[in-house]
Amino acid sequence: MSFDNKFVEWFKDNFGSDVQFNCPMSEHTRFRVGGPAYAVVSVRYVKEAKKVIKFCLNNRIQYLVIGKGTNILVKDSGFLGIVIRILDKSGRILIKEQTSQCVKIAVTSGTTMAAVCRFAIKNGLSGFNFALGIPGTIGGSITMNAGSDTGTMGDIVESIDVLTPSGHYKTLNKGYLDFSYRKLKLINIGFGLPTDNKHIIASCIISLVPSDKKVVKKEAMAVIKKRKVNQPKEFYSAGCFFKNPENSKYFAGQLIELCGLKGKTVGGAAVSEKHANFIINKNRATADDIISLKEIIQKEVNDKYRIFLEPEVIIVG
Ligand SMILES: Cc1cc2nc3c(=O)[nH]c(=O)nc-3n(C[C@H](O)[C@H](O)[C@H](O)COP(=O)(O)OP(=O)(O)OC[C@H]3O[C@@H](n4cnc5c(N)ncnc54)[C@H](O)[C@@H]3O)c2cc1C
Repeated sequence: MSFDNKFVEWFKDNFGSDVQFNCPMSEHTRFRVGGPAYAVVSVRYVKEAKKVIKFCLNNRIQYLVIGKGTNILVKDSGFLGIVIRILDKSGRILIKEQTSQCVKIAVTSGTTMAAVCRFAIKNGLSGFNFALGIPGTIGGSITMNAGSDTGTMGDIVESIDVLTPSGHYKTLNKGYLDFSYRKLKLINIGFGLPTDNKHIIASCIISLVPSDKKVVKKEAMAVIKKRKVNQPKEFYSAGCFFKNPENSKYFAGQLIELCGLKGKTVGGAAVSEKHANFIINKNRATADDIISLKEIIQKEVNDKYRIFLEPEVIIVG
């Protein structure tokens, strides 16, 4: 994959060892598949990404912002552009406001969900345990309105700070945020979906409830135990591959199982035996294997139930 030499120099000068050229996206996505991007630039904060975005816009190079890449499938042909990876494992979490009813915390977008879970448990704050075991960053999780059966990001996010396409920071409170099932749409602002990469989430304010530390911890242990039983953690995946269909009494995983597809393989990709809505990278799968298996599942479910399963996973390339 070729990339103009003058661009290479600019990235080397500005990002040194934080930039990888011709970098396979299998290194930066949880599926561990996917061809190369021109370059992957790793930063901890959105303010460091601002320069890259300006450079890309000025030079008409497409870019993609990712967090931990846990909900992304990059095709084997790769991404003809720059990937900006915003990841800060321990992150920055600050208590902004504290009353007997509510604690508001400010969190930067590259902070992992796990770091916020630990912070909430340590400080006896309830409301975040739904996120235990969701492996992404705060920015990716807000974009996807990540959640489980006990809550979603939309339930607890009070506001987000975004970097707009024109390079300005803006705070968007609840009136601008339309959270729905695995989706955040910005309203009254004319930008569209965060997944369009038209704006970047820099940080957010999350509202939690002061509680008894022991109670929060006990609840956390139960959530972790349940996830261990239900999810195939031993293989790479992107979590649930399909959204649960509206207007159906069945979850996506149940429909896949009813079609007899549990364990079905294409190349190195397989439908998990443990959870039928997980496509797993069982044995050195390619993105093509995963996409072919996805298409087989969609066809079989549609033929049998007249339901089109829409991917939850973002397919790139
Ligand atoms: C084993 C496993 C279990 C999972 N379980 C769950 C679950 O229970 N519930 C659930 O909802 N999801 C689950 N997921 C999916 C995934 O973890 C979540 O969607 C996650 O929150 C995505 O975060 P990320 O940082 O990895 O985002 P990425 O996958 O890197 O990106 C996801 C999307 O967000 C965009 N994006 C990322 N960062 C930003 C930013 N700062 N600003 C604007 N856009 C941004 C990307 O462009 C992309 O469109 C699971 C995944 C795995 C692998």
